[in-house]
Amino acid sequence: MERHNPETIGVRRTGWAALDRDPQQDTVEFLCPHCGHRDQKNARRERTLYRFTDGFMQDLQGEVTQCHACKRYLRVVPIVLLHDQDETRRFAAVFADEPLAVTR
Ligand SMILES: [Zn+2]
Repeated sequence: MERHNPETIGVRRTGWAALDRDPQQDTVEFLCPHCGHRDQKNARRERTLYRFTDGFMQDLQGEVTQCHACKRYLRVVPIVLLHDQDETRRFAAVFADEPLAVTR
């Protein structure tokens, strides 16, 4: 179902990796594969569904969402959970070719 949706990697920052924003927010950040817009969505999947894969906790099923800019659908997958600055740095190194890895 919805297999035709283009996929893009997402980042879900928690704890020490999310100090620059409201701790009440639990969001997944991603770049729209249609228009390149940097967007975010509320994280829906339980963290217990994340699996340790390639050195990170990842949701390999992902979440389907709609870009706020171009209104087209996409699947955010995998979603990588980042807990602290160390993991954030490691993510940036491993996914160096991903524009999303360049943190603001
Ligand atoms: Zn878009």
